[in-house]
Amino acid sequence: MDRMENMKLMDIYNRLYNNFGPRHWWPAKDDFEMIIGAILTQNVAWKNVEVAIENLYSRDLIDLYRLYNAKNEEIIDAIRPARFFNQKLRYIKAFCKHIIDEYGGELDKFFDKDTKTLRRELLSLPGIGEETADVIILYGARKPIFVVDAYTKRLVSLLGIMDGPFTYPRVQQYFMSNLETDLYLFNEYHALIDAWGNIICRGKAAKCAECPLSDLCSICTLDRTKDRIAPVI
Ligand code: SF4
Repeated sequence: MDRMENMKLMDIYNRLYNNFGPRHWWPAKDDFEMIIGAILTQNVAWKNVEVAIENLYSRDLIDLYRLYNAKNEEIIDAIRPARFFNQKLRYIKAFCKHIIDEYGGELDKFFDKDTKTLRRELLSLPGIGEETADVIILYGARKPIFVVDAYTKRLVSLLGIMDGPFTYPRVQQYFMSNLETDLYLFNEYHALIDAWGNIICRGKAAKCAECPLSDLCSICTLDRTKDRIAPVI
């Protein structure tokens, strides 16, 4: 671990934490709901996912076997608000089938696998890319892995803390090699970056005057007295 890089990353973390407070992620009642949410949230706002999850609950389908055995039309009807419902139906069914076929339907047995095995198996399933796989490992299996999303890439780019290209593996490696491997830290850090990207650093509508990172930002020349329109990244 590079001490200077660690100090830089912890400074950013502390600023975000002091600004937003603990995020208590993932917002789900249990691990299965967490996984369904992680699949449904691909390419759609979280508020749409909340509606889809509520629809699944109202049909008593937040259960691995019941969801797997449910009629496609019933599931599509429930998850329609999360868009791309035909694809997402296929991804959800494939995940359920994997857990049923390989782990007797027991999610805990799957989560008992080491991180490398979990990641390899998740990435072999349709519709599960690096971000979704790592979200499931971090927030479902509760194993420390750093999740990278578009906001994370925007953050490292705007703050100039690493050189591009900002590919998933490079950004993940940068965080993981310069932070203590700590489940709570990785959990909160990703959630805090999400809050920053969702609430403050919103492209053209960025609220730079409210940004706890403004003095580190390469594009903010700074009038802290009012919101400033920031360039699209
Ligand atoms: S100062 Fe503005 S553009 Fe820079 S990181 Fe903060 S919100 Fe984003």
